[in-house]
Amino acid sequence: MTANAASTSATASLKQKGPGTFRRGVHPPENKALTADKAVKVLPNPVKVLIALLQHTGRPAELSVKPRDSVELGQKIAEPTGLISAAIHASIAGKVGPLTTTVLPNGVRVPAVSITAGEADNQGPNWPSPKPEQFKVENFLPEQIVAAVQEAGLVGLGGAAFPTHVKLMANPERPIDTVILNGCECEPYLTSDYRLMLEEPQWVVAGLRLAVKATGANRGLIAIEDNKPQAIAAMQIAAADYPHLQVQSLQTKYPQGGERSLLPASVGRVIPTKGLPLHVGVVVLNVGTAAALAKAVLRGAALTHRVITVTGEGISEPANLLVPIGVALKEVLINCGGLTEDAAKIIMGGTMMGNTVSDLELPITKGTSGVTVLTKSQVQTEIERPCVRCAKCVDHCPIRLNPTSIAQAVKLDEFELAGELGLQACVECGSCAYICPSRIPLVQYMRSGKAGLRKIEQSNSQIAVESGPKAPMSCHGTMPGLK
Ligand code: SF4
Ligand code: SF4
Repeated sequence: MTANAASTSATASLKQKGPGTFRRGVHPPENKALTADKAVKVLPNPVKVLIALLQHTGRPAELSVKPRDSVELGQKIAEPTGLISAAIHASIAGKVGPLTTTVLPNGVRVPAVSITAGEADNQGPNWPSPKPEQFKVENFLPEQIVAAVQEAGLVGLGGAAFPTHVKLMANPERPIDTVILNGCECEPYLTSDYRLMLEEPQWVVAGLRLAVKATGANRGLIAIEDNKPQAIAAMQIAAADYPHLQVQSLQTKYPQGGERSLLPASVGRVIPTKGLPLHVGVVVLNVGTAAALAKAVLRGAALTHRVITVTGEGISEPANLLVPIGVALKEVLINCGGLTEDAAKIIMGGTMMGNTVSDLELPITKGTSGVTVLTKSQVQTEIERPCVRCAKCVDHCPIRLNPTSIAQAVKLDEFELAGELGLQACVECGSCAYICPSRIPLVQYMRSGKAGLRKIEQSNSQIAVESGPKAPMSCHGTMPGLK
């Protein structure tokens, strides 16, 4: 199938059924033109990386090397400490530094270790690339796929960084029939997934075939927003030989790529309030995760590098870059020509779900999908004013929460009341804050409310432990309902 034929077929499918979507949501400016045409470049290898030992959902990894050990690129340096944890590997060759700490973009301090390259060590990723005809997916058993993914330290690259091997483990009590690859990339500004679909479509499809096999599903879907016709065409060509795989065009709307928006749009299923996609027979992976999954299984590549978008009006040379995990934010920015004179705000991630940061030494982690730099004039429009009770935040929340009431409870430190109002169901998509005419940073109230609830739970657990057994431990902040 040619690209034109695939594009025509995508258009035809839009005309026949119309693209699927979810209810509510918002339409922020896409701002993707800054980098959409920028092919992925490899960042020159840094002299030093700082690798966090907790850059995934779950328990931190435990260091398995000592200070002054020499390590090779891709060598495992930390072991997972439980099922919901992930191995960590050296992203450059060099000497291991002492155990230290670093701060993640969300402000949490975690253990970390540095690696410093000697002159002879300074090499980049250089794996042999099997050709598509060498992608012998049928040679692998489900348990071999899961083991290879676990060994590679693979986590979700869309942002949540949940350990991928856990999602792939088949469970007869919860059969999976569909694997959805999320290629929506609905977050404004970011284009790393888009470039990956254009530049490595065979790897993405190989990853989907492997995920379908590992989970025992009978079909795989690649969901892409309809503002990316070239990616739809590229994926249709790559998937053309596999009748159990299908490319789906979805409406361009934020947060189309969130799991709770994606499932209704893609397969017409609703995730229960305290549930996960697996509770309705679905596993969702990001397209970047799928490509990394294929590389982990087919060439034994650990997750040492990832593609990020460096973008925004405040960066001199916006780009898509392949970077080693642990490289400092400063190094990434310098490589993109540095900040413009009117740069005012640096966000790890995109403008809707990212975290504002000020420390340029922060390392890139497995979950970093991009860096967005805004200018003074863009930031000045964000000054908070009083609530005018317009209910726009309520009308646009994809989870049907009442953000203004929850924020009010959080402002008063009434965290338990905020919990009763559904705070824990908030997916922190930022739609409410975006639509609010008073520029109230509602999503920040959601985040601080969740932190307040966690503190209450921790102190309740402590009291329960001190006063004897019996009180059930809460699982807030992990995976509700996962068994
Ligand atoms: S309350 Fe949460 S889920 Fe609802 S719009 Fe705001 S950030 Fe998104
Ligand atoms: S959108 Fe903003 S101003 Fe309107 S009700 Fe919600 S918080 Fe208040």
